[in-house]
Amino acid sequence: MKLILLGAPGAGKGTQAEVICSTLNIPAISTGNILREAVKNGTALGMEAKAYMDGGKLVPDELVIGILKERLAKDDCKAGFILDGFPRTVPQAEALDRMGIVIDKVIDLEVSDEAITKRMSGRRVCESCGASYHLEFKPSKEEGVCDKCGGKTVQRKDDHPDTVKERLEVYHAQTEPLKGYYQKTGKLAIVEGQDEVSETTALVLKALGR
Ligand code: AMP
Repeated sequence: MKLILLGAPGAGKGTQAEVICSTLNIPAISTGNILREAVKNGTALGMEAKAYMDGGKLVPDELVIGILKERLAKDDCKAGFILDGFPRTVPQAEALDRMGIVIDKVIDLEVSDEAITKRMSGRRVCESCGASYHLEFKPSKEEGVCDKCGGKTVQRKDDHPDTVKERLEVYHAQTEPLKGYYQKTGKLAIVEGQDEVSETTALVLKALGR
């Protein structure tokens, strides 16, 4: 099963990817998590990506496409994968096609800009493993501590209100056209994001025929 999760930043792609990957036993691949890790480790890639990320802009296509190619070449992707946050532009989707990857389904998680802005203020991520939480909708058992690895959960720098506004603009201009791109292939399924994580998961699994 090769899946793409589309949707605005904060629509719940990461959270749903975490659930679906354990249900389907395939890895969830988040280009955002790979980039944040590179920034944290101060690699050349991280240093190049950081300014774009902090400003809420997209990292240039060629960089992200390179990262994804490398990741998909790993053994754990042989049985399938879930892409969370890639593709984010039409050229990235075209690059995926050129790699000869046949996607089974594209799930578009729809959430209004207003709800997203509210959600982002409560979002927290683990700085060690990238797991995501929400102070109100999906709290960790102990505040500030990751349930999965015991790492520290923090607010992402790019989840601050001004950057969120920029990221939503970038989403509408550059990523939303992908809905039309995948609609044409007949693989697009639209899921309305719910406040309850489990309700959204049920709708996603239904769209996948599970
Ligand atoms: P995310 O965690 O998916 O919200 O990604 C965080 C940030 O990483 C984005 O705002 C972009 O700056 C960058 N990023 C992640 N994935 C991509 C992508 N596919 N193309 C370009 N930039 C990306």
